[in-house]
Amino acid sequence: MKITSVKTAATSGHCMHLWVRIETDAGVTGLGECVHGGYQAIAIIKELEERLIGRDPFAIDAIFEETRRSLVFEGGFAGALITALTGIEIALWDLKGKALKVPIYELMGGKFRDDIRVYCDCEVSPGMNMDEVQAEVDKVLEAGFSALKVDLDIRAYGHTGSETGWYEKDRFNMTPNKWEHDRMVQLAEMVVKAAGKEVEVACDLHTRLDKHSAIRLAKDLEHLQLMWLEEPIPPENIDAMAEITRSTSVPICGGENLYLRHGFRKVFEQQALDIIMPDIPKCGGLSECRKIAEMADLYSIPFAPHNVSSPIGTMASAQVCATVPNFLVLEFHWFHRDYWSTITDGGEIIQNGRIKLTDRPGIGLELNEEVAKQHQYPGTTWFE
Ligand SMILES: [Mg+2]
Repeated sequence: MKITSVKTAATSGHCMHLWVRIETDAGVTGLGECVHGGYQAIAIIKELEERLIGRDPFAIDAIFEETRRSLVFEGGFAGALITALTGIEIALWDLKGKALKVPIYELMGGKFRDDIRVYCDCEVSPGMNMDEVQAEVDKVLEAGFSALKVDLDIRAYGHTGSETGWYEKDRFNMTPNKWEHDRMVQLAEMVVKAAGKEVEVACDLHTRLDKHSAIRLAKDLEHLQLMWLEEPIPPENIDAMAEITRSTSVPICGGENLYLRHGFRKVFEQQALDIIMPDIPKCGGLSECRKIAEMADLYSIPFAPHNVSSPIGTMASAQVCATVPNFLVLEFHWFHRDYWSTITDGGEIIQNGRIKLTDRPGIGLELNEEVAKQHQYPGTTWFE
């Protein structure tokens, strides 16, 4: 079997969802999804098509690594180039599963579990009072989720602290003032109270603090027994992240902006995070993230993938989550968006906060192109 074409399409959702379709001379095709690669990833895939045509589509790891290494001067270690390769890699796994008529998890050593626990992003925002927080949290709990996440970084919403107006003075400074600090603590307390004793709560800081402010905030959140505190500082400084992690009993989670095993190596060596959250359809794909998870397991670090993908990328991520021992929970980021369940032939893949793995080959879902095309991303072509 040989690859005959590599085509892309893109839809709007959480961000640009880039679809990669790989066709073969045997008539078997595979579909992959990647996210956060933007128009650059489309251009990269177009350029790579020529070198993929004629290749054996089953040699997934070899195609990935050979292409990546040959493009090291173009950025073959992080960013859009890796995301483009990720879309290709996931399509190749889908194709291989379909050709062999087995789900991807069967090709990756088999399942540790039959269903995948999912946590839900909750649209609580810093201006809300307790009743408003409760109403938002209740929507997620009524859908059956046993874990949720909220954004704690009040600067993301442009809140100023009416007493001080500090934010307006300098939006690049990463030290929250006392009002901002107290407001973040209060918001986390409201969410934990609204969620109740049995539901786990994670709080995301989107890299917006400096080291000392993160340590101070984590300390003041310790009484809440959070599932985790996410990305307190920018991902570049792993030494500073390690200091934060060691300073607090709150589990520190990160990694959605790291790429490949190489991006995580220092994290593991320094025990810089308590939980890792690679974005599987962004940072290297299924093989690579399975390897990242296995590396994490050596260091007693749970694997809780970041995920903003459609059901296709989510189910592709679930295939990996099934095959590693240290899987904790997978993200769901489309709770308030309406076309999630209509974009594939799988219906509502999340039931009561869990994704049940099926026996369908490959990823286990097909794109509903009629619906997907209604959400075509501006300025892109459709599998041409
Ligand atoms: Mg995050």
